[in-house]
Amino acid sequence: LFGYVGIEAVLDQMRRKTMKAGFEFNIMVVGQSGLGKSTLVNTLFKSKVSRKSCTPNYEEKISKTVNLQSICHVIEEKGVKMKLTVIDTPGFGDQINNENCWEPIVKYVNEQYEKYLREEQHVNRKRRIPDTRVHCCVYFLPATGHRLRPIDVEFMKRLGHIVSIVPVIAKADTLTMEERLEFKQRIRQDLEANGIRVYPQKEYDEDAEDRILNDKIRENIPFAVVGTDKEHQVNGNKVLGRKTKWGIIEVENVAHCEFANLRDLLIRSHLQDLKDVTHNIHYETYRVRRLNESNA
Ligand code: GDP
Ligand code: MG
Repeated sequence: LFGYVGIEAVLDQMRRKTMKAGFEFNIMVVGQSGLGKSTLVNTLFKSKVSRKSCTPNYEEKISKTVNLQSICHVIEEKGVKMKLTVIDTPGFGDQINNENCWEPIVKYVNEQYEKYLREEQHVNRKRRIPDTRVHCCVYFLPATGHRLRPIDVEFMKRLGHIVSIVPVIAKADTLTMEERLEFKQRIRQDLEANGIRVYPQKEYDEDAEDRILNDKIRENIPFAVVGTDKEHQVNGNKVLGRKTKWGIIEVENVAHCEFANLRDLLIRSHLQDLKDVTHNIHYETYRVRRLNESNA
């Protein structure tokens, strides 16, 4: 073929390299006890096809009130390995006085940037720097049907500057469809009114195609999710669901709740973008700040 260089084969090379190396993805879940964080994380893992290993690898008591625990799963699909780490924050917002309850979380996020920065500055850098940076923070809002609470505003305002936040309405099965829609709308108003930055942010859309796709997501956040760790039979199929007196709520059925939208955003459509935003924006901001500090 005259003039054919074969550049498109580069895609295959990239694919093979990624498959061999695998990749890391770190999600943090934040919200009061009992909002279904652990359950949702399990749902996320169960809704994936296969799970290879499961090793708890980090547990640190950062303060009396908020413990951070991270659980790492290696998920492999069609030869591609993903090391998915979920950082749980039990205890957040459980006190009567929740002043400064975001501090241990801010500290954790920044510590991971610091670790990465140190590795980058070594004379003998590792070929691949282990990445423990939080790529996404899923923030659980209680399904009150009212508005954002002061603690939600405070947390998201602060964290929105250092990490990508994806707010969700927890236990959405406790709201009617109408309540859900109205609650979502009010939350979007509150986010806007308080200048809270949630993912995906308009400023980081790269082109018109991005904008169209992300506008759809922005019009639909926060996702109203339902979690479960049980499977049930529905028309001869096994589905993840919650069995109630009135029927089964199928968590992966988009007619029932928006769990699938959340999973698709986190894993199927925006995983790489979440990593890019973390590296190019949040980490970069941290790095510049640190370097300015040390030059001052
Ligand atoms: P965490 O403290 O935020 O980790 O909450 P858990 O995952 O431990 O869940 C607390 C309780 O809420 C458990 O009894 C769960 O079965 C229940 N739960 C979890 N997710 C949902 C949900 O989506 N809807 C309802 N109705 N209950 C849920
Ligand atoms: Mg829990």
